[in-house]
Amino acid sequence: MAAGGRTPLGHLRFPVAASQGRRYPETFHPYRNEFQRDRDRVIHSRAFRRLENKTQVFTPSLSDHFRNRLTHTMEVAQIARTVASALGLDEDLTEALALVHDIGHPPFAHAGEEELDRQMRRFGERFDHNLHALRIVERFEQRYARFPGLNLTYEVREGIAKHSSDLTPGTLDEYAPHLRPPLEAQLIDLADETAYNTADLDDAYSAGLFSMAEIGEAVPEYGAIREEIDFQFPASPEKVRFQEALRRLVDLLVSGLIEGTVQAAHSLGDHEAVRAHPVRVACYTAPARETSLALKAFLRQRVYFSPDLVEERRRAAGAIGELFGFYLENPGRLPEGYLDAGAPRHRAICDYIAGMTDGFFERTYRETLGAG
Ligand code: MG
Repeated sequence: MAAGGRTPLGHLRFPVAASQGRRYPETFHPYRNEFQRDRDRVIHSRAFRRLENKTQVFTPSLSDHFRNRLTHTMEVAQIARTVASALGLDEDLTEALALVHDIGHPPFAHAGEEELDRQMRRFGERFDHNLHALRIVERFEQRYARFPGLNLTYEVREGIAKHSSDLTPGTLDEYAPHLRPPLEAQLIDLADETAYNTADLDDAYSAGLFSMAEIGEAVPEYGAIREEIDFQFPASPEKVRFQEALRRLVDLLVSGLIEGTVQAAHSLGDHEAVRAHPVRVACYTAPARETSLALKAFLRQRVYFSPDLVEERRRAAGAIGELFGFYLENPGRLPEGYLDAGAPRHRAICDYIAGMTDGFFERTYRETLGAG
């Protein structure tokens, strides 16, 4: 690793004292710094607890062992913290960002997001789960008497706004579209990618969608790991060898992320240089990137576009579209408060549905449209 020994990018750490602070000023806490408080605020929010009943990829109908969006979030936080600690970055900011990264997801994962977006486009608007997450933490969470939302620091809100892509100037200009987010925020996208690729592989394997040999054919690095494990543990059941391989795969990707980021960031002097750099610097090494892409392609073909999942998504999207239409025609059936917030009807409906868990959606659908 590059200069810096055990914390090679410690000089790029975002200093909590440099935070641009909160929208509504607050007094300091005696023993928690601002990013630690943000992490705690996220964990204690209702939107965070609702992640437990939101689909990641597989609905719980098949097994109790699949990830949901909460356990996925915990895996992302774990990976991101490990990387932040190895690099010498701020673990509290990283953890707060990891815990909040999926808070804006509607029910039924990407099917839900796409359908809400499709509905909003009819009104010339969009649905985006990052922007929805911002609305949750700024407005919908009501836990403080003195202000709406969670009053998170600028850096956590910026990280939400810039999760997975940079902003285009003209939208959310307060988050400086021309600047990259701190390195702590940049890590989250790849910690997320590492977590979901390996977890989806695990869940899909236990659902019986493919064998270890098939993964090895599609992902060369996995093939090499598998050969090593077969050689070391020839008598172990395949399920155990699969877990051995999965661990090594996670380790390979996380190490690739640490090393790739150290290489890409070697010329930067401090956290401000990270921001001013024309591109993001958090990245995998080239071989880890290749493995990640091969995994993604394999999962797309064998899991995400498998007939069962396509059918499930089609059903979920259809139901969301129906409920959206129902509320457009019967706005009086929306819970109190949604319409008087001053937003147009379609926006109020979108916010209401986006906040639902899968289970709450199913119940509401049955109660309003009388079918299940
Ligand atoms: Mg995620």
